[in-house]
Amino acid sequence: MTDCIFCKIANKQIPSKIVYEDKEILAFEDINPQAPVHIIVIPKEHYANLHDAPNLEGMGDMFSAIKKIAEEKGLDKSGFRVVLNSGKDAGQLVPHLHFHILAGRPLSWPPG
Ligand code: 5GP
Ligand code: ZN
Repeated sequence: MTDCIFCKIANKQIPSKIVYEDKEILAFEDINPQAPVHIIVIPKEHYANLHDAPNLEGMGDMFSAIKKIAEEKGLDKSGFRVVLNSGKDAGQLVPHLHFHILAGRPLSWPPG
């Protein structure tokens, strides 16, 4: 999608600090981190949100990538949070399906 920020990041039209990449998935550091570790994980293909994805076949691969990133950064030992904001009330700002990985400090719960 031409005017989507995350598509542009996936196509390398906009630079990002990439932490993981394979054929279908890209993970990069959030530009406005909310924790010492804040990584965005996206499918390279554009889906606005979870409901826009034609099927959930790729989700296992997304979680495998998240697990790999967490292990590489030692987060499997310290703990981490995975967040998917979907739609207005969740505060989704970028309409390209993505997960957040948050870690590096104790995270409050429940969310505000
Ligand atoms: P959302 O609220 O849609 O779940 O989160 C979007 C996230 O994308 C935010 O945490 C925001 O800081 C991040 N973000 C927005 N634009 C860019 C960008 O151009 N580069 C990077 N690395 N992150 C971005
Ligand atoms: Zn997109």
